[in-house]
Parts: sequence; structure tokens; C-alpha cells
Amino acid sequence: MIDLRSDTVTRPDAAMRQAMMDADVGDDVYGEDPTINALEARVASLLGHEAGIFCPSGSMTNMLGVAALVAPGWELIAESQAHVLRAEAGGHAALAGVTSRTWVSPDGTFTVADALALMSRPRGYHQVGTAAIAVENTHNFGGGRIADIDELRTLRRETAAAGVAVHMDGARLLNACAATGISAEEYGRQADTVSLCLSKGLGAPVGSVLVGRADVIEKTRLLRKRYGGAMRQAGILAAAGLYALDNHVAGLADDNAHARQLADALAAAREGIVDPAAVETNIVFLDVSDLPVDAEQFAAQAAERSVRVSVMGENSVRLVTHRDVSPEQIDTAAEVLTSLV
Ligand SMILES: *Cc1c(COP(=O)(O)O)cnc(C)c1O
Repeated sequence: MIDLRSDTVTRPDAAMRQAMMDADVGDDVYGEDPTINALEARVASLLGHEAGIFCPSGSMTNMLGVAALVAPGWELIAESQAHVLRAEAGGHAALAGVTSRTWVSPDGTFTVADALALMSRPRGYHQVGTAAIAVENTHNFGGGRIADIDELRTLRRETAAAGVAVHMDGARLLNACAATGISAEEYGRQADTVSLCLSKGLGAPVGSVLVGRADVIEKTRLLRKRYGGAMRQAGILAAAGLYALDNHVAGLADDNAHARQLADALAAAREGIVDPAAVETNIVFLDVSDLPVDAEQFAAQAAERSVRVSVMGENSVRLVTHRDVSPEQIDTAAEVLTSLV
């Protein structure tokens, strides 16, 4: 099987497992796991922030970032397909009392004016005030689109002047860095809190790190405990993250190139199925509305020919490239999918 459903399907390789075996560990609830402490410091410095906190999942790092920035009853504004609002089981509302409003980006690109137009300061006792704006970089359901750095800089400047915070869902931020050559630090500086996933393209089995100012991260340590996410000798997991940062970052450029290869092949095979210009990182969305099959049927036909894809809507299929799919398998997947379209 060539599994293009998600980059979360990546498995730890032998060398990563060895690094996990060799990890120094301690009780992280006492702050005594040296490997977790090293990972938190490493990601904080990578993203240009003071401190970091290691969590089991990206849903939890987003949860903590938003909960630290938005008090109950205040609002978070985000794009309508944002992972924080669409794919984290409503945690921000259910657990932190965060209300939300959304702007719509039809193609996944980030336009700062859309976000700023929604921003509201509380007036009287009735109107909900915006406490934070979330930006997803890269935007998963937006097709892996990269948030433009100048738009992000404007967001940072305008929100700071208004006393509104910025959370960046940077689950795949390093895919953006690989595509643009802009440093993780430069992107990271455009937000108060940034989450980064280790278990996507980076290939670790578990984990995400949230970074921010030391006092903000300190506040999230209490919340992580409350949500049941404080772990003990989890340095064994953090070691996988450190190994990934040392060894798997360079490969993200290949993942991005593989997505482009698939998009180019499919666009050449059938007009309208994908806009290759919209494919900036490792995610490709296909629009199968002109095909005689719907997305479910398309996925079933692909699976019969050993290619697994995700169904994202009635006519929407998602392909995600990652380090467990080799260049030869990308060639094969391109053949299979082009013959299907
Ligand atoms: C995967 C992902 C997350 C985190 O998901 P978990 O499965 O909870 O680790 C957050 N944001 C985006 C954009 C993602 O793609």
C-alpha cells in the first residue's frame, strides 16, 4: 500500500527507535526529564520564543495556546476551515469556554484584512471581544497553503496595537520553511504562541511542542496537568522529536516536491482536477466533481490499486506526501491516479 491519507501515518524508523531507547529520562511533572527539557528548549529557540511545552498531540498544544490567550467568554477568530475549530472535537469551546467567529478563504490563502475586519473590542456589557486570532501555517484543509510572511507581519503589528494576541497553528510550519526558505524563527516571531507537530512529516510517533513567552508557557503547565496531558518519563518520546529535528527536516523539501509532482501529473491528465499553482507544500486536494465517481468511489478505486487517499467531502480527495513514501512509490501513485482520472 502507498498511503497518502496523511503524513501522520509515518512510522519511527530503526535509528529513531534507537534514539528513544538511549534517552535519559526523569519525572517530567517534577521538571526532571532532561530529554523533554532539551526538546522544549530546542523548539523554543528554533521558533524564536522563550519557552516551550511538550504535549502528546497537536490538538493539545493548540488547546493550551488558545486557552492561555483567550479567557472564557472571549473569542478566537480563525479561518472557517481552521483545524482548531473544525478538527479538535470542539475542545476550545467545551473545555476553555472560548467562543469563535470565522472568516472564509476560498483557496486556503491567508489575507490579513479578512482577519482584521472581524476583530472586535468589547463595547458595553454585551459584545464579545476578540482575544486572539489563529492562523494556520500551513493550512491543512486549505490545501497546505503557506501564510504569506508580509500578511503575517501586518497581522502581528495590527493585533499588537489593538491588544489582541496571535496563535499560530504551525503543525506543518517546517514544510512552509522548506518551501519558502524563510526561517522558522521569522515565522515564529509573528505570533504569541506557536504549535509545531513532531508526528506529521517529521516522523516521530507522538508529540507536539507549544512555544511562547515564559510566563505564558508557565500558565499552560497548569492547564496541561488539568487536561491530563502531563506525562512522566516521556523523554523516551521527546527523544524521537529531537532525532526528527536533527535528521528529518531536510526531507520535508522532498515531500513538497513529491506533492508538486503528483499535482502536475494529475493536472496534465485532466483539466480542473487540481490547480498545481495552489500546491505549495505536501498536500494536494483533488476536485472530482467532473468525474463519473464521487470521492468515496474514487478512494475505493485507488485503494484497489494500492493507493490510499483521504475523502474530505463529497467531491474532495486529499493526498499528503511524507517520508514513508519513496520516490518510486510517488511515480507509481502518479500512474495509478492519472489513469483513474
Ligand atoms: C494534525 C494537525 C494538528 C494536530 O493534530 P493531532 O492529531 O491532535 O496531533 C493541528 N493542526 C493542524 C493544522 C493539523 O494538521
